[in-house]
Amino acid sequence: MACKWNNVCPLRRLEQQSKISADYKKEYCESEENWKNCVRFKLEEQGISHKDSLMPDGRYMK
Ligand code: SF4
Repeated sequence: MACKWNNVCPLRRLEQQSKISADYKKEYCESEENWKNCVRFKLEEQGISHKDSLMPDGRYMK
């Protein structure tokens, strides 16, 4: 089952704007379980704010 934030995640907007590819979506957001390893997901669970430019692997969008 995909990440619970999949539809509302800021990464969707960045994809639509062609600022990032759909690779993160495939690898994390729509994966069965790998969204658990997403840095954004982990921060969200802890209630820690994070920038839209933070990617699931912990890198920042260039
Ligand atoms: S980037 Fe992370 S928090 Fe956002 S939808 Fe993908 S897996 Fe979930």
